Amino acid sequence: MNRPSDIPSPVQHAPEYVRAIAPYVGGKPIEEVARELDLDPATIIKLASNENPRGASPRVQAAIAAAAAELTRYPDGNGFALKAALSKRLRVAPEQIVLGNGSNDVLELVTQAFLRPGDHAVYSQYAFIVYPLATQARGAVGIEVPAKDYGHDLDAMQHAITPQTRVVFIANPNNPTGTWLAGDVVERFVAAVPRDVIVVLDEAYNEFLEPSEQSRSTTWISRYRNLVVSHTFSKAHGLAALRVGYGVMDAAIADLVNRVRQPFNVNALAQAAALAALDDEQYVEDSRVLNRDGMRQLENGLRTLGLRFLPSRGNFVLFETRDADAVFQSLLRQGVIVRPVANYNLPTWLRVTIGTAPENERFLVALGKALDASASTRAH
Ligand SMILES: *Cc1c(COP(=O)(O)O)cnc(C)c1O
Repeated sequence: MNRPSDIPSPVQHAPEYVRAIAPYVGGKPIEEVARELDLDPATIIKLASNENPRGASPRVQAAIAAAAAELTRYPDGNGFALKAALSKRLRVAPEQIVLGNGSNDVLELVTQAFLRPGDHAVYSQYAFIVYPLATQARGAVGIEVPAKDYGHDLDAMQHAITPQTRVVFIANPNNPTGTWLAGDVVERFVAAVPRDVIVVLDEAYNEFLEPSEQSRSTTWISRYRNLVVSHTFSKAHGLAALRVGYGVMDAAIADLVNRVRQPFNVNALAQAAALAALDDEQYVEDSRVLNRDGMRQLENGLRTLGLRFLPSRGNFVLFETRDADAVFQSLLRQGVIVRPVANYNLPTWLRVTIGTAPENERFLVALGKALDASASTRAH
């Protein structure tokens, strides 16, 4: 309903920078597509949100069932058991860990703790969209540095740092482009950033890299006390629904960040599940291998269809197609959900998450049909 503009409304008093935020557009949920297109939800496959196609591990499911017996108690607001396990795994002190309601929470908390209105945050063109969103929500100024070959241009990012810069974001690998930088290159960048500027190194897809390429960046924190490394249980560990992730940082930074979080920001089921998932190394390894093989399958399929794609180190791949919107809609009608990335200013590209082998095959067949349909529409 339209309100006459002379009627006072609290909306007009919301900060300009909040009113200017473009809402986050996520992957379409299966139920929504089923409702809108009158499809059976059981026949729809979702390859739109970089989720793990394998389902949660049985060990995680058992841990959740056990934790579900205690739903009337608040969770441990300090996440003692999960932090102890992470501390042992990563060889950092528990005081260096901040747990988040997803790693998205950690990213937001860092901006909350360090950005005032007018401060600068530096990130790359085509980097994860949460960086501009979280920056804007604080009234801070986002400095978007042009990408190089769709990835981070670290030299240009270094030059974009000024006395007003408080936070720099790096996604490695990056979503949605799948671009990746080797550890020594990232470390050289971190070393060159002034020590009073926070560097957030977002490693949500680290577990999908070859073991020899996986980041050791948490071991750099003793040298670079301005470094914040964020990890998630949403992707390779398969816990996206539960919302749990963490940041590793210097204890003095963690102390500040912990002051601005909700006291119980990570729920009890999520803590129990994450603890079990951390222990289930075989599940993560199997997820990595399934993803590696699925990536080859999709790359081969995209090549066969004559489509350009960006080599990706994540669990997704970005491919270009002239009629991205028509192809997206056609895929939806065939019960396959992928992700448009027009909100990244990539209107001719679509992002597809690596699924199981049968899901990948179904996507490729549907994509072939979608391309034929859009080619014949253009011919008319
Ligand atoms: C998925 C993703 C995250 C993690 O999201 P959660 O909030 O942990 O589910 C963080 N960074 C990037 C780049 C991602 O793609």
